[in-house]
Amino acid sequence: MKIKVRNPIAELDGDEMTRIIWKLIKERLILPNLDLALEYYDLGLANRDRTDDAVTREAAAAINRLGVGVKCATITPDADRVSEYHLKRAWPSPNGTIRGILDGTVFRKPIVARNLRPAVRSWTRPIIVGRHAYGDLYQAVDFVVPGPGTAELVFTPRAAAGGALAGGAAGEGAAAAGPAGGAAPGGAAEQVRLSLHEFSGPGVVMGMHNTDASISSFAAACVDYALSERVELWFAAKDTISKRYHGRFRDLFAEAVEKRRPEFEAAGIAYRYMLIDDAVARVLKHPGGILWACTNYDGDVFSDMVASGFGSLGMMSSVLVSPKGRYEFEAAHGTVRRHYYEHLKGHSTSTNPIASIFAWTGAIRKRGELDGTRAVADFAGALERAVLGLVEAGVVTKDLVDLIEPRPATYETTELFIDAAAERLGRELERTGA
Ligand code: NAP
Ligand code: MG
Repeated sequence: MKIKVRNPIAELDGDEMTRIIWKLIKERLILPNLDLALEYYDLGLANRDRTDDAVTREAAAAINRLGVGVKCATITPDADRVSEYHLKRAWPSPNGTIRGILDGTVFRKPIVARNLRPAVRSWTRPIIVGRHAYGDLYQAVDFVVPGPGTAELVFTPRAAAGGALAGGAAGEGAAAAGPAGGAAPGGAAEQVRLSLHEFSGPGVVMGMHNTDASISSFAAACVDYALSERVELWFAAKDTISKRYHGRFRDLFAEAVEKRRPEFEAAGIAYRYMLIDDAVARVLKHPGGILWACTNYDGDVFSDMVASGFGSLGMMSSVLVSPKGRYEFEAAHGTVRRHYYEHLKGHSTSTNPIASIFAWTGAIRKRGELDGTRAVADFAGALERAVLGLVEAGVVTKDLVDLIEPRPATYETTELFIDAAAERLGRELERTGA
């Protein structure tokens, strides 16, 4: 008897080795057990090229409509891929396109097993990292200062544009706002001009920005995800030094949490704001079980630190959460090109399918929660237990051999690992009577 899933999930297929794994997971683990309608979008590079990338935008719209999507890793084409696949052009990153349409935030979550020893001994539960993927360093303007001169920061309110600036603004309102800066948000009528630095020789200068809308949307997604995962929420910045820029982040975050305060209290979850250096020091001694919300640069750096600290790319899952509460699940790794080329030569591979399997279970559990179908969410749990049970029994792919204790004598091929998972899932479902 298959378990009935009430509403469809958007399925986004992908490329190379992960496309091979994807099909095996779907055919051997998911569809034999679930009566599930999948709205299929083929984001394989050939089909993106054929549809002028319309398929990516349609897939994003489907996630928006259905609420839940599951995505296979895809190639982001560079010049080499354009010739390898004879593409019309180098299509943009599908993840970037989907994120743009859903206005989402990406959370990376490590998959932990009892015998998989992270490099950081205290980490026993997942540390989820949420990265604000807009602004700051990544949308900055900068340049190399050739020699002595003045660098200034100028803001011209839209209404005043053309008026105040028309005659070239030398001296006009110079440093009016003083070092305190701070035009009142939401309606400065006058131009703001701040001295950045008086250069006596060559150097470098940079201007960064962010927007209230983007920060608030990021904060809302973090709040939503922390509540959905029932984990403590951390946000850290450097507001002691950057009183206005980082201070604004701190305040907008606090506002987003305040709006959902009763839900935090009901779930018994805390929100903690701290200085970024304090957060880094604490996280290394923490057992985990937290969502660490990071500004753009911090998220770039610390998501890689956490991923590497937990052990393997094959054990890192990822979810895109939109501020409207739409979810897209995927593995954090790419299409594992090197293994695919081995596969094409007819060699068997030992590629870890666990992060891709957890993309499926994440989507299935969320579907069950949104539909209020307990059995569906329970199936996701059973599949995760089956897979982790294998790892804990020492049945693993090659990437995990050096990471688990005791070290297994051998490892499985991609396909045999998935078959072993299917067998163990069968027993797990029998045991729980599903
Ligand atoms: P990758 O797929 O992340 O793999 C890099 C290396 O990491 C592999 O060669 C392998 O190391 C190891 N690895 C990653 N996942 C593994 C797994 N599941 N099991 C075992 N080992 C694993 O990066 P890539 O091969 O350099 O990139 C291929 C394509 O992926 C690129 O075209 C890129 O655009 C795309 N990409 C897509 C996404 C996405 O869709 N979310 C994300 C990143 C990259 P060994 O070779 O040492 O075995
Ligand atoms: Mg990085």
